[in-house]
Amino acid sequence: MTLTITKPLLRKIAGRRATDKRLTELADAMNRHFPEYGITTVLRASHFFGQMIVESGGFTVFRENMNYSATRLLQVFPRHFTTAQARAYAGKPKKIASYVYGNRGGNGAEQSGDGYRYRGAGIIHLTFKANYRKFGQAVGVDLVANPEKAAQSDIAVRVALAFWKDLNLNHYADADEVDDVTRRINGGYNGLQERIKQTMRVRRILLNGVPAQGPGPHAAMLRRKTKGPAVEALQSRLKELGYPVGAIDGDFGSKTEKAVKHFQRMHGLTPDGIVGPATNAKLANVEISGRDDPSPIRETPKGPAVFPRQRDVPQFYGARGQNQRRIRLPFKMRLAWDLSKSVSRVPMHEKCADSAERIFKRIHEHYGDDEIKRLGIDLLGGTLNVRRIRGGAGWSMHSWGIAIDFDPAHNQLRWGRDRARFAQPEYEQFWKFWEEEGWLSLGRSRNFDWMHVQAARL
Ligand SMILES: [Zn+2]
Repeated sequence: MTLTITKPLLRKIAGRRATDKRLTELADAMNRHFPEYGITTVLRASHFFGQMIVESGGFTVFRENMNYSATRLLQVFPRHFTTAQARAYAGKPKKIASYVYGNRGGNGAEQSGDGYRYRGAGIIHLTFKANYRKFGQAVGVDLVANPEKAAQSDIAVRVALAFWKDLNLNHYADADEVDDVTRRINGGYNGLQERIKQTMRVRRILLNGVPAQGPGPHAAMLRRKTKGPAVEALQSRLKELGYPVGAIDGDFGSKTEKAVKHFQRMHGLTPDGIVGPATNAKLANVEISGRDDPSPIRETPKGPAVFPRQRDVPQFYGARGQNQRRIRLPFKMRLAWDLSKSVSRVPMHEKCADSAERIFKRIHEHYGDDEIKRLGIDLLGGTLNVRRIRGGAGWSMHSWGIAIDFDPAHNQLRWGRDRARFAQPEYEQFWKFWEEEGWLSLGRSRNFDWMHVQAARL
């Protein structure tokens, strides 16, 4: 399909602050260059825009400012400045950039001024001499000799697209993984929440702009075997709402049909798998609040298990250490305190055992063996353990076999999200799987004990 980025559409996407002249130039460049870089689907375009909006401040900042107060310097570049140094550099953008970007990414030392010359530019905020060289070559402009050109609209768009291609970001956009796209662009997860928000917002704008296709009175009817951009829009929308549709390929196949029927059932419509006016209206009106608050909709809707509050645990689960069953783990875990011991079954209370099994399965499907190892999800800190709370009189939730600890060494009891490993964005989905079934993370709700998840509310 071809996406046409009109200026009014780009205005909606960019927000109010960008100038008309900029938007006209950018829209023009995008229409000319999107197709050759494969930005041809709503999904890819929404990821591209979501990132660019954050990088360029809604297409308003085309050269990184680098004018910081002493306080900000200490916050933004804590490893580069002592308090005294920060005072000496404050308010001197040239000095600041030359110093913090010096001696890396192909830049010379501070005195060379490279750090300032090759500071963030364009819509993706291209930074460092080596990148100016590489992506200048990719678009046929000598950006090393003429760094200011990186801020011109046409070059900025082409550089961003070349960068996008170089990092294979269409691949991650197709998988709809804002985290992965972010990590590749940013090197970390700066502004991840904002990037997710913007990606979703742009997607809604773009989907509203896609007309239903096909001639005749049934123009808006989509059903099995229909193909085209309207189907792609439908698939994106279903996916956004949490329904598994498989690939977003514009081809209305069995998975799409299944997702449509599921959606229809969930909203009191006749589950015929045909998208007509009623289903369309529902699809357009269901509120979504982005990935932060996914609807708990699964392929087999069971409704989340309801677990008791902590104080009702004895009444709900019964005697401590009783009613246990050994659940089978879909991946091998290792005992965190003795890595030579591997574990394939763990005891859990029978009232939450099914739920835990389902969640482990989803974790396994989502991350796969290698990621599970890399992330330390396979490090078991303990499940059933009849004992008192550390430093307290009450019984630990582990006493009923309704809690699991992961990787205790990297998620120590008193560590907050600044230190705990499982507080990092890569674990977002891990926690969502638990939370969708009604489990509770003490880390996510109280910001301590990030190793721990339990089948009881606070
Ligand atoms: Zn625990």
